[in-house]
Amino acid sequence: MDQSKHYVEVKDLAKHFGASRVFENLSFTIDEGEFITLLGPSGCGKSTLLRCLAGLEEPDAGRIYVDGEDITHTKAQKRGIGMVFQSYALFPNMTVAENIAFGLKMQGAPKSEMLQRTAQAICLVELVGNEKKYPNQLSGGQRQRVALARALVVKPRILLLDEPLSALDARIRRNLREEIRNIQRKMQLTTIFVTHDQEEAMTMSDRIFLMDKGRFVQTGTPEEVYLSPANEFAARFIGAYNLLSAAEASALFDVQGGESLFAVRPESVYVREPQGVYPQTCSAPVPGTVVSHQLLGNVIRYRIAALGTELTVDVMNRSSSRLYAPQSAVELLFNLAEIKPLS
Ligand code: ADP
Ligand code: MG
Repeated sequence: MDQSKHYVEVKDLAKHFGASRVFENLSFTIDEGEFITLLGPSGCGKSTLLRCLAGLEEPDAGRIYVDGEDITHTKAQKRGIGMVFQSYALFPNMTVAENIAFGLKMQGAPKSEMLQRTAQAICLVELVGNEKKYPNQLSGGQRQRVALARALVVKPRILLLDEPLSALDARIRRNLREEIRNIQRKMQLTTIFVTHDQEEAMTMSDRIFLMDKGRFVQTGTPEEVYLSPANEFAARFIGAYNLLSAAEASALFDVQGGESLFAVRPESVYVREPQGVYPQTCSAPVPGTVVSHQLLGNVIRYRIAALGTELTVDVMNRSSSRLYAPQSAVELLFNLAEIKPLS
């Protein structure tokens, strides 16, 4: 037995496929009931990591503990881990109820318990009335609810979700996102959710593990990762940061220190209005020319050229604010307190 106080502890995990290394010395801990998102570009090793945790892939080295128990070499069915995939992976010849009950049947649960728990799970994912339908009679969103219910019905210790929403359209995606989070909270279920979509990661997670080429670049709350990107990769991946070279930055505002790169959030640059009030930490005004604008609902996203640099600038879309047409001359203020030097 390991004495660890964390619910999940992974130590020095390594996985290769032939000569190609997916990850090495990967270590992290997760607390009970946490919702963790693994966020990173395609091919960085997210699915391989989940598959190692689920027991669908054998790691080359390292240890995996859940609730103090070493499960590194435990069979997948014995780990108490539920998994949901992007491709629903339902049995086409079974009804919704039969698909959901499958795991309980395999465990040899008594019939009455099986029926009761299946009915509960169907209720939880809001599929009441669809029990007798077959997967091909369901929408994509409904199929993913079946897959979710199937994973939840066996009361897993950990829920793993591998890009479960990627194949769904935007509206269903947003609904299901909220539902997954609500169910997870209600059940206090330790969850690892995989996505390459930063908005999904920001809105759902207790903590984000930002991953690149088999390494964790940064781990932290959505706020931490968003407000303080650890390096250039993080700043490029999260938000719509302007990344300025030292030369570009020093043309626009007073630069302290010898950093080579400056990350500036689009909402940390202001388009100066005659009556506007701005933080005292703002730079002196810099002349700029509007290149283009894009309406993002409550925000107007401008591209503005200033002293040789083209910047993304977000302005709240209030009824009082003007919309600047391309070629408009404006003045920009940089909130120096929010600019992140990156080494
Ligand atoms: P992600 O889920 O982040 O897109 P994966 O974990 O699927 O990334 O893949 C990580 C790397 O491992 C990729 O380079 C991929 O090509 C490779 N890989 C994944 N599965 C296999 C496999 N079964 N055999 C060989 N290479 C694999
Ligand atoms: Mg994947």
